[in-house]
Amino acid sequence: MNLTIVYHPDYVAPLPEEHRFPMPKFKLLYDLLLTDKITVPEQVYCPELPSTELLELVHTPEYVRGYCQGTLTAKAQRRIGLPWSSALAKRTCIAVGGTILTAKLALKYGCACNTAGGTHHAFPSYGSGFCIFNDLAIAAKVLQVEGLVRKILIVDLDVHQGDGTAWIFQGDRSVFTFSMHCEANFPGRKQSSDLDIPLPIGLDDDGYLQILAKQLPDLLSEVKPDLVLFDAGVDTHVSDRLGKLALTDWGLYRRERLVLSTCFAAGYPVASVIGGGYSKSLQDLVYRHSLIHRAAAEVYFNLNSG
Ligand SMILES: [Zn+2]
Repeated sequence: MNLTIVYHPDYVAPLPEEHRFPMPKFKLLYDLLLTDKITVPEQVYCPELPSTELLELVHTPEYVRGYCQGTLTAKAQRRIGLPWSSALAKRTCIAVGGTILTAKLALKYGCACNTAGGTHHAFPSYGSGFCIFNDLAIAAKVLQVEGLVRKILIVDLDVHQGDGTAWIFQGDRSVFTFSMHCEANFPGRKQSSDLDIPLPIGLDDDGYLQILAKQLPDLLSEVKPDLVLFDAGVDTHVSDRLGKLALTDWGLYRRERLVLSTCFAAGYPVASVIGGGYSKSLQDLVYRHSLIHRAAAEVYFNLNSG
């Protein structure tokens, strides 16, 4: 048995040259996972486009229509930070489909990893910070509506607060939102997750892992989720252009192992998304995004990735 991953060729859509969003990373990650035998082609699943109805479990019909048809105001577009194209609109939707599929596969196999996803700054009626539709929130709602799960825990370890997700599930006791992020980072205005852990600038591997190791077991036994959605953003890395923490590659790997092995030991299935990562070197960045997949292969499938 190999690691189950989710990928679609449309995860990559063209952006203007020099745009700071590292769009090629999704295909490069997929290639690396196969080259390094973290998974095999038979365990790669391809998502479908989600229906408008599913997107509207979280987002307003006006926003879904406006974005998909490219008729949002210039101001709303600027807030997203990615120039609209029909290819990007399709990419946005297929990535949401990817997280929905990953969540379903996690229920089946115990663990599954998307090679995209983690658009946690998207709110019901607007997008922000490269995030258009909130894949984590939509996947949570879809699985609940389809009766596959009742309670969900979202573990958001991207360096930025999962503000959109926190806002969407405010007052919803069936989805517990946990965000651990740098306190002095985007978004300027934070929302209230069910549990927020703001971290100081420059926090290193050991400091970070100590805090996480202290929180996670209690959180799991308190929430007792039917599924954990894990945003494994790697913009916590010391050389990230947008993050302000100081984790190393090894620290990130230890983090992914800690989350997965804690959930695995307690019997909770995990669906992961890759979240943010903005390194100068695309190759380094892709390797960092592969750490969650390497850790999952090791923890869940006893595959030593070396
Ligand atoms: Zn981020």
